[in-house]
Parts: sequence; structure tokens; C-alpha cells
Amino acid sequence: MNIVTPPAVLPETASTMSQPSQEQAEEAVRILLQWAGDDPDREGLRDTPARVARAYREFFVGYGTDPVAILARTFEETDGYDEIVLLRDIRLESTCEHHMAPIIGRVHVAYLPHHRVVGISKLARVVDAYAKRLQIQEKLTAQIANTIQDVLEPRGVAVVVEAAHQCMTTRGVHKPGVTMVTSRMLGAFRDNPATRRELLSMINNRSGTGYTE
Ligand SMILES: [Zn+2]
Repeated sequence: MNIVTPPAVLPETASTMSQPSQEQAEEAVRILLQWAGDDPDREGLRDTPARVARAYREFFVGYGTDPVAILARTFEETDGYDEIVLLRDIRLESTCEHHMAPIIGRVHVAYLPHHRVVGISKLARVVDAYAKRLQIQEKLTAQIANTIQDVLEPRGVAVVVEAAHQCMTTRGVHKPGVTMVTSRMLGAFRDNPATRRELLSMINNRSGTGYTE
């Protein structure tokens, strides 16, 4: 049997909650299987509660991740580079907090360095730290931008999120192909229309580099 260690839950999200046991989580899944109309004791479903509990650890690993710590290490040898740094098309996998259904899409993160830069993989990890929680897209977008602004203190931050919400595509109004776009612009991206235009053209310029997959 696999022993799964509970993730370290950040204090601000755990102040009034106690972590249920693995057994309690599996029992909850068994009840949902019955609620769906099936028999949790049949062969194909016997290990499903344990699998779902493990999957939840992955879907919600962000609760145990500190986004501020991810951005702690920066580099100052930039030879004065002060133009836009854009990380485009970061895969987004999140979960809607209203239906616990997947939100799948992509995120573009940009900032205007002020004396220091951060490793680009760290920007993607900040996206995951917030995405791997129960979310709404508006809050996710703001959290990513605000954290980068607060920790890196660049001259501006821009976050654009484009995503499909399965609570809308596979249930409810059933509108596949619909994507929701949200953005949060801070600093120069908010105040300077030319900077914002430059960013949006960089995001939309798909033919530019030839380096995309
Ligand atoms: Zn939803």
C-alpha cells in the first residue's frame, strides 16, 4: 500500500481546517461513486477511491507551494536589459472552484525588469502554484500578476490567461470551443498604451520566431 504524505498546507489556507485522513478522503469518493449510480465494490471501481485521492494530491499540490519562495532567487547581471520579458503559452491546468471541473488553457506572463530578472522556469512554477488549487480564472490571473509585482518589483507585469472551462463545455450550457480571456496589467503595462500594445503584438505574433513547437 502506498503511504501518501499530506502536503504541507500554507498557514493562511489552513488556519481553521484540519486535514482529513486518507481513509476519510477515500470514503468520500466511495459515496460520490454511489451518488453517480454505480457500485463502488465492483472490480473496476475497487481501487478508484485511492486513485482519486492520489490524483487530488496532484490537482491541488499548489496549496503546499509558496509562490513567493519560488521567486526568491534573482539575477542582477543583465547588462542593463530593460525590455519586455515574455513567457508565452504556458500550459494551464486548473480546477474550477464552483464545479471542481478542469480549466485548461494557456497563460502568458510578461514583466519589465528593473535591475534584476528571474529564471524563466520560475514564472511557470508561479503559474502552477496558483493554478493547482480551486480557482476562478479572474482570481488566478490577479494572483499571478500581484505576486510577481510584489516580489520582483519590476516596472510592470502583465498576465493574460486564455482557458476553456469544462463546467461550461461538458455540462451546463454545453458550449465547446468557448474560451475565456482575462488579463491583469500592472505598472507600465497599465499606464503606457504603447507598452501594452507592444506586449499584445508579441503575444499574438505567432510567425515571428519559428521556435514554437
Ligand atoms: Zn465551474
